[in-house]
Order: sequence, then structure tokens, then C-alpha cells
Amino acid sequence: MTTTETRKFEAEVAQVLHLVTHSLYSHKEIFLRELISNASDACDKLRFESLGKPELLGGDSELHIDVSWDEVARTITVRDNGIGMTREEVVANIGTIASSGTRRFLEAMSGEQKADARLIGQFGVGFYSAFVVADKVTVLTRRADAPAGEGVKWESDGKGEYVLEQVEQAGRGTAVILHLKADEDEFLKAWQLKSLIRKYSDHVAFPIRMPKDESDKNGDGKPTGEWETVNDASALWTKPKSEISDADYIGFYKSLGHDFNDPLAWTHNRVEGSQSFTTLLYIPEQPPFDLMMGGRDERKGLKLYIKRVFIMDAAEELLPNYLRFVRGVVDADDLPLNVSREILQHNRQLERIKAACVKRVLDLIEKLAKDEPEKFVTFCKAFGNTLKEGISEDATNRERIAKLLRFASTKGDGAKQTISLDDYIGRMTLGQDAIWYITADSYVAAAGSPQLEAFRAKGIEVLLMFDRIDEWMVGYLGEYEGKKLRNVAKGELPLDEADKQKQEEATKQAEPLLKKLKELLGDRVGDVKVSARLTDSPSCLALSDYEMAPHLARLLREAGQ
Ligand code: ADP
Ligand code: MG
Repeated sequence: MTTTETRKFEAEVAQVLHLVTHSLYSHKEIFLRELISNASDACDKLRFESLGKPELLGGDSELHIDVSWDEVARTITVRDNGIGMTREEVVANIGTIASSGTRRFLEAMSGEQKADARLIGQFGVGFYSAFVVADKVTVLTRRADAPAGEGVKWESDGKGEYVLEQVEQAGRGTAVILHLKADEDEFLKAWQLKSLIRKYSDHVAFPIRMPKDESDKNGDGKPTGEWETVNDASALWTKPKSEISDADYIGFYKSLGHDFNDPLAWTHNRVEGSQSFTTLLYIPEQPPFDLMMGGRDERKGLKLYIKRVFIMDAAEELLPNYLRFVRGVVDADDLPLNVSREILQHNRQLERIKAACVKRVLDLIEKLAKDEPEKFVTFCKAFGNTLKEGISEDATNRERIAKLLRFASTKGDGAKQTISLDDYIGRMTLGQDAIWYITADSYVAAAGSPQLEAFRAKGIEVLLMFDRIDEWMVGYLGEYEGKKLRNVAKGELPLDEADKQKQEEATKQAEPLLKKLKELLGDRVGDVKVSARLTDSPSCLALSDYEMAPHLARLLREAGQ
């Protein structure tokens, strides 16, 4: 077997490379952030694996990331002493597109749409951002448990092929060497690299070091061989709140990855007691692409630490599905360090932490609703529908969640979803005992429905629901603050005595007509009745209390049920 081989990138990789290099051009500096974040992940992975196998660390237990540059060779090198990769891992991780997220990214980006930096960050096509500034990238790596002779060299110009070679590597870990394109010399300056590290990677939990820059002094342009740490390198969440500025919180959020925007809001708490833990949780400003596409398997961004050691991405273990948009960190003091995902799924302590996370997030959303209406509107737009899933998923917090939902209504501002159930109850007419709603495919269909005529005439407000999830959600909710939620298209209407009398008389008068209609329509209807539902339209379809709403029936038909 030869140790050197040339391989082609998967077709998709070539496509991603093309997209990334062309669309990231205005954000090209983020290549450094992406490479440092990979190096940091590699250090996290090694620290975790070394819990069970301390020998992996050897004599080199101070994990760090080194960024250096060479003005003559015009290279930048990002080196870590983390977990490293085997040949197979190199091929799997940077020669193909393993993650389904990246595939979805490609689908999303195909056509005329331009990939923007925000999306690229979310889909984790980070490594390829190296080719925005480099026309050749060399990766030297050795897995922590592999012998020195089993190092791997990967090299590519990012055009379609890469070369793999077995090489001798004295130390474990990975070095990524960027051979800069002709006009990218700005990155060969110490102050520029340093300021980029501070800007994007200050909160990486490992020291990021650069050669001590003595070149100005001795004038020979050669580094002195000494290193200095240029980032903060502390675990932000372990500091007291009073020592953390908003800028720190925002910077830390961005260092978590998957979002280049500022967060909308955050909540940072320490729980002391029989079980101690710290949570730092963020709500993003915009939904990630994945959430909009209904994706679930790409839930990233909530990291579980145990005593400051990164254990795993544990969004699914730490938060219910309806809060899957939350990002951040949970650091527990009392979990066993050797936990596996299986153990986590049945861990009582973790259940408690999860409940605390839910409480914190709901507290935070409530605070937005109360004190920061603009942010709350942004929140509802981005995640209002996701939150609705909580009505069925989280029975314990059903009322709290229901209180946070906002709807359009016949007494609201057009299609704007701003009316809370409490607003509605506050405006209920005398003797009204139910919360009335209508579901439809769109605002226009809901607001224009003939079913609303009688309610308008009586001045009874009706919530207009037109999001796909509403029919299903409202079925789970059932009632709120002791008031039943009732669909205007179902069952009997709220009639007073006078109405009832009128209806009886009308029914008597219309007897022959009703009989005729029933004969004509036969099996197609359950009954034909005189109705108080309508004031202008001559007739409408109505449902009995136990029938499926037309909107839901249609959804199920679409889903092939
Ligand atoms: P992501 O970091 O979102 O997984 P990237 O494109 O940044 O996507 O990296 C792809 C994969 O390559 C990583 O998941 C990791 O397995 C591997 N990788 C990249 N850089 C390193 C490194 N410095 N050390 C070890 N593995 C790495
Ligand atoms: Mg990455």
C-alpha cells in the first residue's frame, strides 16, 4: 500500500467550497475563528477522553492553541495539542460531508440565493472557510493514541482534489497551515491576528498563544520562541455576574458558534445546595435555518460541562424539544465525570437541572414580555410557533406557556399576533364563558370566515389562528384560567334567551325547507339546522363538538392520514 494518495472531494464538498469561498469574501477574517473553534473542540475532546485514559495526555497536559505566522513563507498556522485525527478521520471529516446539516445547507443555498455568513456559521462548514484566504491548505495531524509514525498530512488547493500522505509527527494534535493568497498579506501582522483573536475567540476556554512579538525590537522579523496568551481563556460562566459586562456575554455567545448575530437575551444563574450547578442560557435573535426547516437532529449549542470539563453537546438531554432554540452552557458540580449519553437520559440529577433550565428560560421570556416589548415581539416572530409545541409537550408548564402566546383577533390589529389570552379574558362580554377561536390556513381566510358573523354582531371577540400548529396546540390546551377554548365552527353558539326563542320560531317556519334540504343532501350532511351563526351569508357548514375542524382534517389529508 502506498502512503501517498490523491483523492477527489465528494461532489458536495466541491460545491460547499465554491459557495463558501465566494460568499464569505466580505467576512473573510472569520476563517481564524473557525479554525480556532475546531482546535478548541479538539482540546475538549482530548480532555474528555483522557478522563478514562490519562495516558493520552502523556507529558503534555497543558492544552493550548498556538497561532503563528511566517512573513517569508506567507503562511499562518493554527496548531493545537488536542485529540488529532487518524487517516480515516481526516478523510471522513474534511474530505466528505458527513453532517446532514451541511447537506441541508447545500439544499438551502442552491439556486440564486447567496450564502451569508450567518448561515455558514450555523451549518458548521467552518474548516472550508480557510480557502477564503488561502490558495493552499496543509493539515498535519496525529491522533492522541497513535504512534509518531502514523501522522497524516492532508493538502489541497481547494479545487477538487486533496493529497493524503503518512508522515512522522512528533507531537499529537493538529496543525492547519494556510498558504495565503497573493493579496491577503494583512493577516501576516501580529496586531491584526491578535485583534481578531480577541474579537472572535476571547472566550475560548483554552489559552490561545502567539509568539511574543519582539520583531519590532530586534528588527530581524523572527519570533523569539516565547509564547504569550492573548485571549481571556476563562470559563466566563464561572465568574460572578457583577464582573461580566454585556459585551462579555455577547462575545461568549458568539464563541459558542452557530450564530454570528447578537443574542436577543440571556440568563445566568448559579444554584447552590445539595446539587450545585451554573446555567448560562441565551435566546437567539433569529431562528436558525434548521428550526425553520423542522430539523431536529442538528440540535447544537447547549453544552454540558462538569466542573468546567466539556462533556458533550447535550441540548436534547437538558431542554425539552420546544425550547430547542436555546443556546448556552450548563456546568454541573455533582455529576459523575464519566457520564455517557445513555446515563444522562435516565439521570435524576439531570432531570432536576433540566427543570431548572426550563424555569429559567420561561422566566426570561416572561421578563421580555413584561419589560421589553420590542424584544418580545422579535421573540414571538422567531420562536412563537416553537413555543406552542410546549402546550402539548410540557403539561407541567402549560399555563405559563399559554400566558406567553400571542394571537391575532377580531379586535386586534389586523394579522398582527399581539393578543394574549389574558387580554382576551379581560375583554370578555358579560355572561361570556368561553374563549372563542377560529383556525384557518391564513389570516385572510380566518378573518373573512362567515362563521364570525354572529360573533361580530354580538361584539364577541374571536381569536384568529392561522399557524399550522394552532389547531393541534389548541386541542391540547383545552382551557385557560378556567375558560374553555371553543372553536366557532363547532357545536352550539352562545345564545341568550331571546336568541333561542327566535331560533325556535325560525326553525318551525323553515320546517318544510329543512326537510327538503335534508332529502337533497342526504348522507353528505349530518343535519340541516336553522342557525344563529350567520347574519349576512345564507348558509355555512358547521361541525358537531366532536368533529375534526376542517383545517385539521385538511392537514391530515395532506399528510396522507
Ligand atoms: P464542525 O466544526 O462544525 O464539525 P468543521 O468544518 O469546522 O465543522 O470541521 C469538520 C470536522 O473536522 C470537525 O468536526 C472535526 O471532526 C474535524 N477537525 C477539524 N479541525 C480539527 C482539529 N483541529 N482537530 C481535530 N479534528 C478537527
Ligand atoms: Mg468547526
